Amino acid sequence: MERNKEKIKQKMDELYRLINYYDEKYYIEDNPVISDEEYDKLVHQLIELEQQYPEFARPDSPTKRVGGKPIEQFKTVVHEKPMLSIDNTYNEEEIKEFDNRLKRLLGRAVEYFCELKIDGVAVSLIYEQGILTVGATRGDGFRGDDVTENIRTVRDIPLSISYRGKLEVRGEVYMQKKDFERLNSEKIKNNEEPFANPRNATAGSLKLLDPREVSRRHLRFFAYGGFFEQNPPTQEEILKTLEEYGFPVNPHRRFARNIQGVIDFCHEWESKRNQLPYAIDGIVIKVNSLRDQEILGATSKSPRWMVAYKFPAEQATTIIKDVIVQVGRTGILTPVAILEPVHLAGTIVSRASLHNFDEIKRLDVRINDRVFVEKAGEIIPKVVKVIKDVRKGNEIIINPPKTCPVCGTPVTRDPDEVAYRCQNASCPAQIKERIIHFASRRAMNIQGLGEKIVNNLVDSNLVKDFADLYDLKPEQLEQIERMGEISSRKLVENIQASKNAPFANIIYALGIRHIGERASEVLAENFSDIDEIIRADEQKLASIAEIGPVAARSIREFFDNPANIELIKKLKKAGVSLKQTGPVEKKGKLSGMRFVITGTLKNFTREEMKTELKKLGARVSESVSKETDYLIVGENPGSKLEKARKLGVKTISEEEVLKMIKREI
Ligand code: NAD
Repeated sequence: MERNKEKIKQKMDELYRLINYYDEKYYIEDNPVISDEEYDKLVHQLIELEQQYPEFARPDSPTKRVGGKPIEQFKTVVHEKPMLSIDNTYNEEEIKEFDNRLKRLLGRAVEYFCELKIDGVAVSLIYEQGILTVGATRGDGFRGDDVTENIRTVRDIPLSISYRGKLEVRGEVYMQKKDFERLNSEKIKNNEEPFANPRNATAGSLKLLDPREVSRRHLRFFAYGGFFEQNPPTQEEILKTLEEYGFPVNPHRRFARNIQGVIDFCHEWESKRNQLPYAIDGIVIKVNSLRDQEILGATSKSPRWMVAYKFPAEQATTIIKDVIVQVGRTGILTPVAILEPVHLAGTIVSRASLHNFDEIKRLDVRINDRVFVEKAGEIIPKVVKVIKDVRKGNEIIINPPKTCPVCGTPVTRDPDEVAYRCQNASCPAQIKERIIHFASRRAMNIQGLGEKIVNNLVDSNLVKDFADLYDLKPEQLEQIERMGEISSRKLVENIQASKNAPFANIIYALGIRHIGERASEVLAENFSDIDEIIRADEQKLASIAEIGPVAARSIREFFDNPANIELIKKLKKAGVSLKQTGPVEKKGKLSGMRFVITGTLKNFTREEMKTELKKLGARVSESVSKETDYLIVGENPGSKLEKARKLGVKTISEEEVLKMIKREI
């Protein structure tokens, strides 16, 4: 054989070996060691090589197989109709290609039905004379595991229905994010391996041999397909019929007259996916007409009439190269992982949050470990799991530092707090962070005063606290690296202009613990100047709606510290307006009304809804109290609903709010 060909065969053999190994880890052990995206890339490579060199393709290739083998502990179920996989598309072009292919095959236009691709595990449920008789996993697509006992513990799967004929329902068993997180923290507490994601957790749970334990995992179900004795003519009607028989069907689904409608649905959910209480990894696009589905048929691996549009992956694996410790403005030490840069959800990430040292211990993260990182809507990705199977022995345990990495002061830890702290209030790191916060957009909004300049100002002793900013002269700034005459003058102007920032912004800029933007607004609405706040006792502060006892105590602690009173004096002397200047309340249609939101809204993110309401003068709070006028209830509402009922607070739907604010959607 030619040298080149020999090499290709070796490469293919290596891919077979690797993919089989990864399949075993994923399907049998529910403990993947690479991310889905990395796995999909390998499979893609293999498919291409198999097409180019069919002489080396193996009949048992993983590219021709569906899922994993059935497990020995369970009885095997032979599926009446195979449970196939779904082909993937990753962008608009590929979705359009799919549409063109179908139009060519059918010789006419096609109508579609779009559904969320729930990231769980496929199951088949058989009902005979209205009774659930078998619940099985997909297995290798032809033979699955009989997990009926476990399936019965899934509370939203009906055990009996009014349909008397034989019925097979296909659907996805999944786990809600909150149940997944609870399960993982329990696992970590018991020194067990956490699951990488809700899908692996669901697969692992369905395979448990003790149904009582499965029941504790709170598995859920969405039906997405059915075979009735006499099927309705479209996918849309099948789902409607299933719903009528009491099966939970995901409400976010849509008929699309053409492929543009499909593409719109895909984009819509790409941005809304993180608002759902469960994970989805894409959209499933199905030909709506069952007759057309039949004409199109299937390949050995997947139906031709259905395709998945996969969202950019939110998980990747990479190596922790180092862990650094950052000191925040309140002195809290936060460990941050420095990663080997990796592609994640459309960006390259090189840092991940480790939250605190307890988390490091819980996850048992070490330097040089290979880990799963995840970026599910958050700005900063987090480390979710260590892949211990691939440890090499060169991993270094991470201990909390004994002294502050910036000023060297010994660190402390309150017994009831997870955080380690540097208690030195004049620690340069804290000073810098406090000034950066003071100047930030939502605080004093001093343009041009970024992290680099603050570092320079503090290091060169020009500024010791944020009040010193107001004494700065352009000539002093010019001494700083990269600051020219014009930019120095401009910065001084911007600093001076911030003296008239709104009262709420100034309160927020002070950086009082537990006093965020909202609490600052509330304080500004309730007090006319800073001296009034300074005079208020803890009880008075805590009696204000939306200011809880923790916040009240924190405000008192801040102003009981003589150093902070000095700081206020300095600000006053500099001419900073520490009082209410504009009108207290914005007048609007909803002026004075207080709203709280719970659950997921259909047409808005919560932030968008808050903005809409605030524009009209309403107040939007995080928690329900006696003062709340309306609780807006979205899908899957949380405990706020119960509290509202207890307190007799009125509840309204999203549609009702829209009517109230007269906004058509
Ligand atoms: P898939 O999970 O990508 O898609 C098919 C499945 O989607 C169906 O079986 C069904 O369970 C589900 N689904 C959810 N909502 C649906 C809906 N509304 N309608 C129809 N189906 C719906 O494909 P697969 O064949 O189950 O799994 C292969 C994937 O598993 C690979 O693409 C890869 O990402 C992953 N995998 C990863 C590793 C690893 O090591 N990381 C190893 C093996 C496989």
